[in-house]
Amino acid sequence: MERTLIIVKPEGVQRGLTGQVLARFEAKGFKFVGLKLMRITPELAARHYAEHAAKPFYPGLVRHITSSPVVVGVLEGPNVIAVTRAMMGPTKPWEAPAGTIRGDFAVSMGLNIIHGSDGAESAAREIDIFFTPEELVEYPRATDPWIIEG
Ligand code: UDP
Ligand code: MG
Repeated sequence: MERTLIIVKPEGVQRGLTGQVLARFEAKGFKFVGLKLMRITPELAARHYAEHAAKPFYPGLVRHITSSPVVVGVLEGPNVIAVTRAMMGPTKPWEAPAGTIRGDFAVSMGLNIIHGSDGAESAAREIDIFFTPEELVEYPRATDPWIIEG
């Protein structure tokens, strides 16, 4: 089953939106197999955002993501990578439709509430950065047959 990494960014935690954001993924039917609150170190931030290292917004991005705690989770489910991205909405909150997390909770690009892996390769890489194998828990949900066909 597919997995992806999400981060409720510092502004999401500070604004008290963590529960609402996580609840959307639960209500959708995705399963959390990893979840924790943590303060991201500059070293972790550099690994996570390596693809942006040369961009002008990079120093501010690292400063921001390390400025206050985040909640990091691993979600599991059918097509969870693409569906999570759709539920987040586009990077620029002013382009994000109502009903998406960024569309409903954000107005600024640098304060857009949520990170989600953008493909299978980045999901595997990012899950490995933030979680040890022991921190990922496999378990059946009693509701699985009511959510996932097959
Ligand atoms: N970002 C920014 N300015 C930019 C581009 C991106 O502050 O010009 C921030 C924004 O918060 C975004 C993050 O950097 O969520 C990572 O950028 P990416 O292009 O990967 O967007 P995402 O995958 O988060 O939609
Ligand atoms: Mg990205």
